[in-house]
Amino acid sequence: MHPSAPTPQLVDQFGRVVDYIRLSITDRCDFRCQYCMAEDMTFLPRNQVLSLEECARLVNIFVSLGVSKVRITGGEPLVRKNALWLFETICQLPGLKECVVTTNGSQLEKMASDLKAAGVKRINISLDSLHPDRFHAITRTGSLDKVMAGLQAAIKAGFDNIKLNTVLMRGINDDEAIDLVNFAIQHQIDISFIEEMPLGEVNHAREQSCVSNEDTLALLRQHVDMVASEHRSGGPARYWQVQHQATRIGFISPHSHNFCESCNRVRITCQGELYLCLGQEDKVDLMPLLRQYPDNDQPIIEAILNSMQIKPKGHDFDLRRAQPAVIRFMSHTGG
Ligand code: SAM
Ligand code: SF4
Repeated sequence: MHPSAPTPQLVDQFGRVVDYIRLSITDRCDFRCQYCMAEDMTFLPRNQVLSLEECARLVNIFVSLGVSKVRITGGEPLVRKNALWLFETICQLPGLKECVVTTNGSQLEKMASDLKAAGVKRINISLDSLHPDRFHAITRTGSLDKVMAGLQAAIKAGFDNIKLNTVLMRGINDDEAIDLVNFAIQHQIDISFIEEMPLGEVNHAREQSCVSNEDTLALLRQHVDMVASEHRSGGPARYWQVQHQATRIGFISPHSHNFCESCNRVRITCQGELYLCLGQEDKVDLMPLLRQYPDNDQPIIEAILNSMQIKPKGHDFDLRRAQPAVIRFMSHTGG
């Protein structure tokens, strides 16, 4: 047991405090989004993926080290069998202020109210198009109707905050920025535009397809009454407030280095790899320790504390490179 407000213990060599973890609980997904996965993916065998009990144990350890926010992601976290048990378990942890989830929305129609009841406060739903055919083309397998029903269920469930995540791709959906913002305003929810990141290998040229957030912001400012907001989340997002509306517009621009100085997060893959930076290879494998020491958290605590010494200063994304900076897919690292 640990006290309800543990002091932050995860401080890296640059003095940055890590109080936020993103945990991927599966590499599987019911969609195959063009920028995230190959059409034909081979997923990990079950025994190479953390069990939900191991996920809960890890979150508990991180919380004991001062982590106060956890994002559960994937792959698609809500397709993992018994995922709700994990949310119910970790939302109870004293010291954890926020448990949030990033989802493609496909399972929300049946799960939104249970997630809210479990204690999930905020939810991010990925949405790249309001046109059913286009949505299907981008996700390769997804149904817009199903995601819309999921969004309605989430609104009804009454989460503190719902945010749409949108990746714009040139010539694919970049003509929908204004419509998507108006959709968010109409539903009184937030929306963030994420620049496409060079992760994994995909079948389109990223340098051509990546729409810069600078261009999106310039376009939106011509059509939407919005002002820069001071709101910060410790990550690469910068926010604008739509005037006289509840909606905030975020711009997640990983290609600019300037957010790395305030980076407060680490990522854990569904295989228990602790990645210190989304855009670098520095990692520590926690799964072998979890399995070798089922009743003793100390070796895992030490490995996590030591990992702070190898958290890199910043990422190294460059869209002009022939090869992606990082070969692993976003669905592996957890977005
Ligand atoms: N399946 C869930 C979803 O789609 O929201 C959670 C996992 S997904 C990997 C998390 C976020 O990463 C999504 O919003 C998705 O749009 C984003 N994403 C995936 N690949 C990306 C890439 N190459 N560049 C930028 N964002 C990406
Ligand atoms: Fe699945 Fe999310 Fe990746 Fe799309 S972005 S393929 S929904 S994990």
